[in-house]
Amino acid sequence: MKTKLELQKVKVLRQREIAPGVFVLSFPRPWDFIAGQVIGLSARETDDARLYSIASGELDDEVDILYNINPTGKLTPWMSRLNTADSLWVSKPFGSFTGKAGAAWWIASGTGIAPFRAMFRTGLTAGKKLLHGGRTLDTFYFEDEFLQTLNGSYVRCCSREEAENVYNGRLTKYLTECETLPPDELYYLCGSAEMVVEVRDILIARGIPFDNIISEIYF
Ligand SMILES: Cc1cc2nc3c(=O)[nH]c(=O)nc-3n(C[C@H](O)[C@H](O)[C@H](O)COP(=O)(O)OP(=O)(O)OC[C@H]3O[C@@H](n4cnc5c(N)ncnc54)[C@H](O)[C@@H]3O)c2cc1C
Repeated sequence: MKTKLELQKVKVLRQREIAPGVFVLSFPRPWDFIAGQVIGLSARETDDARLYSIASGELDDEVDILYNINPTGKLTPWMSRLNTADSLWVSKPFGSFTGKAGAAWWIASGTGIAPFRAMFRTGLTAGKKLLHGGRTLDTFYFEDEFLQTLNGSYVRCCSREEAENVYNGRLTKYLTECETLPPDELYYLCGSAEMVVEVRDILIARGIPFDNIISEIYF
């Protein structure tokens, strides 16, 4: 999605390719934010910004952005060529897909894991269950961090490859097989429109009130 926002220049601290075509770009944190919020990002002040979830914690000194290259896209191929000390333009954080303390399910596909990593690093993990869906085993970004702290409350659902301790199948299949989906907990969904719509339908069919489902669609 592209959008017009007031932008400020920041300098890249580092850029890491954490899986083929998937990067974490970091810059010094210029503002406060609430875990789960997004920023606009662009190559020039006058360009339309694309939106990205902040993937680092509220108290981290650096802002991390997790993104995958869209080969025919305007911004991400350029972003992937940025090096330390190069400039980019970012907006202030905004958005209402924000984390809270208390029991909740964090459900992500692909780079939709980004806001949950922000909530995780902010310390909102008590009572949370994190489900991450991906096609291949290299798409479970930040899995080392999540495994260390969340143990059995972190479920990786892999549809095309198998591994020990990874659920074999789509996230939607895992959810339909879950014996209990508590109706009084919150369900945060983040990622592709396809995943969000499918999961929302499953949750509603299982009796989760619509108001307990909070969605962020990447488009
Ligand atoms: C709330 C929100 C949060 C998001 N957070 C993240 C995140 O954390 N990480 C992440 O990776 N992504 C995120 N996204 C998606 C991100 O904003 C970008 O859409 C994505 O990175 C692609 O950007 P791009 O400039 O490379 O591609 P774009 O230039 O936007 O192109 C996207 C696709 O549209 C096609 N296209 C572009 N212009 C036209 C046109 N005029 N006619 C026809 N087709 C066209 C391109 O060929 C391409 O396939 C988020 C989106 C939203 C809405």
